[in-house]
Amino acid sequence: MISRLQTYLKDFSHLLFPHYCEGCGTDTLSSSSILCAQCSFQLPVTNFTQTADNPVEKTFFGRVHIEKATAAFYFTKDSLLQQLLIELKYRNHKEAGIYLGKLLGHQLQQSDRFSDIDALVPLPLNPKKEQKRGYNQAEIICKGIHEVWNKPILTNVVTRVQFTETQTKQDRVHRWQNMKDVFAVTNRQQITGKHILLVDDVVTTGATLEACAAAMQKDSGTTISIATVAYTI
Ligand SMILES: [Zn+2]
Repeated sequence: MISRLQTYLKDFSHLLFPHYCEGCGTDTLSSSSILCAQCSFQLPVTNFTQTADNPVEKTFFGRVHIEKATAAFYFTKDSLLQQLLIELKYRNHKEAGIYLGKLLGHQLQQSDRFSDIDALVPLPLNPKKEQKRGYNQAEIICKGIHEVWNKPILTNVVTRVQFTETQTKQDRVHRWQNMKDVFAVTNRQQITGKHILLVDDVVTTGATLEACAAAMQKDSGTTISIATVAYTI
């Protein structure tokens, strides 16, 4: 009886608040999802989460010690994934980040490689950018991960220092020197001796993640792993 009532209420609310797939526009999808099953299955899964020495891990070889690393999907231009990431970053569509975080979270939960993670840390955003956007997209992704994989999110352990105008114009070597100082650990006690999963939306060169991981590892005995939604070739 109750389930029939629930179905009835669900159908009724669907009539009042129709809900469409971000990919193909169909309305046959669950209210907690933004993609229908068909569009969701078409996202290009990397299988990196299950695989040692995957391309994301290799990105960091010889640069900084990263325990494990993964990206859930391949990033390609003009794809549905790109559209969702743009909506998350520039169109205030947080549900897209929650959804992608949940997909990443399912992968992490199902992999033995990440089972000893103690906490999630979103890669801090440039403070000015975060103020303008109103949120940090990496934190939204962490919330999605947390919905399916019950690991705490630490948002106050590391911050990003604002670049000056002249610093951004400097050459790459100098930029890297500066990059090393761009992250400041504000609560070392919370990460000491822990295995932290550093989370971001996309991994490309890995320079920013590398700098943040290095800052967090310094003097703290912290182990760092990395997980992103997308990987750019
Ligand atoms: Zn669809």
